[in-house]
Amino acid sequence: MDFCPKCGMLMYPEKEKGEIRLICRSCGHQERPIFSNKERFVVKREIEHSPKDKTLILEDDQQLKTMPTMKAICPKCGNTTAYYWQVQTRRADEASTTFLRCTICRHTWRIY
Ligand SMILES: [Zn+2]
Ligand SMILES: [Zn+2]
Repeated sequence: MDFCPKCGMLMYPEKEKGEIRLICRSCGHQERPIFSNKERFVVKREIEHSPKDKTLILEDDQQLKTMPTMKAICPKCGNTTAYYWQVQTRRADEASTTFLRCTICRHTWRIY
């Protein structure tokens, strides 16, 4: 699973001009995926079965429910609980970024 390094949303594999790219449907950020052979096979299957791709999007919220929560004040609505997850950037010298998402209004932001 890949998360957008800009906004923390899930990135989805899409085929563009014969090339597979990871595209963030939230901010439009694109990345050329670095896959092992096994992973490339999985992504290819997901693209070929577009109904499954749709299911993946719907499962986004479902996945969130299993995410851990922490005490954090939402800058938008003032709620004090947020889901959190970490995104490891591809460069090893960079620290991972923690993203938070408000459990009420779903506002997403990141901390360093
Ligand atoms: Zn994004
Ligand atoms: Zn909120």
